[in-house]
This record gives sequence, C-alpha cells and structure tokens, in this order.
Amino acid sequence: MFRSLAEVLLPGSCPGCGAPAEPVCASCVAALQPAPNRATPPGLDHLGAAFAYEGVAREVVARVKYRNARGAVPWLAGAMLDHLPGGRSADVVTWAPTTPRRRRERGFDHAELLARAVGRRAGLPVRGLLTRLPGSHQTGARRDERHAGPQFRARPDAAQRRVLLVDDVVTTGATLAAGAAALRRGGAVSVIGLAAARTP
Ligand SMILES: [Zn+2]
Repeated sequence: MFRSLAEVLLPGSCPGCGAPAEPVCASCVAALQPAPNRATPPGLDHLGAAFAYEGVAREVVARVKYRNARGAVPWLAGAMLDHLPGGRSADVVTWAPTTPRRRRERGFDHAELLARAVGRRAGLPVRGLLTRLPGSHQTGARRDERHAGPQFRARPDAAQRRVLLVDDVVTTGATLAAGAAALRRGGAVSVIGLAAARTP
C-alpha cells in the first residue's frame, strides 16, 4: 500500500527499494537473479531470457505490462539482448501478440513494446508476423480449451525469415511454442525466443 502510493507520487522510484532511480537502482540490479536453466520450449532453436521471474524483475515486468512504464522497456531490452548468445542471428524481430481484449484494456501490447525496443537496440527490423487466433483466454472458454493455450497464424512475410520472437515472461513456454509453430508453418527458417524473464 505504502509503496504503491510512493510510486504514484514518485514514478521514477526503484521497484525494489523505492529509491529515486529509473528504472532500477544499482544495488537492486546487482541482486537480480539470472533466468533458470530450463528446457527450451518445442519449436524454438534457442531461448534467451534475462532474469528469473521473481522479486524486482517481476515488479519491473509488471510495471511494463500493467502501467506502461516505458522507462523500463529499453533497459529490459538491453538485458534481454545480453542473454542472446553470440552467433545466434536473426533478420527480423516479432512478438507473440496478447489478446485483442487485453490490448484494448491496457491501450498497448507490452510484448510489442519489448519487441520494438529489442529491434531498435539490435538494429533489426520489427514486424508483426503473428496474428492471435480467437478462442484462447476468452471469457467463457471451457477449461480444456484454456489449457490448450494460445494459437497463432503467421503472416505471409514470415516465409524465409530467421525470426527473433519476443515475449515478456515464459512460464510453461506454451505461448512461445505456439508462436514458433505458426512461424514455421509459415515458412520461417529459424525461430529464436527472447524473453525478459522466466519462472524459476
Ligand atoms: Zn533499488
């Protein structure tokens, strides 16, 4: 409660300790945990992730997702690219789109914001190569349908591309796997995943 109030009054406050800092102060950066070493979701040639989804990293991602904290976006993009191993190349950046309803409610797509920042920093073009198909995460969807996860369709210009697929948080990996499957059906040559955080 107190911290939320402080953030309203001081939007440039560190999410870890409340100190004036944008987006994260140096001591909280030093305490960030690396992403856990878990299996790469199916369909991806590789998955890079900056942080474990906990503590300060979780709060930074939440600020981007729910409060459009754009100051944190370039910082996260830099940390994400630091976790892309050398030699892993791509020629286009795209993202796994959120649902149209969430995009309407928030006024933006946080995954697209991250993808655009990654593309700027990496010097790569950013294209919306995926369309999210209706049915998943919809009100009233049956439980088994929800468990099936999101489904995507690739746009024609995914063909012959080496794609860097960006998302904010990897939990089960179902979203990135579904995006990668759609890109490959659309003729993409390779798909590398890149996320801000992965659940421990
Ligand atoms: Zn701090």
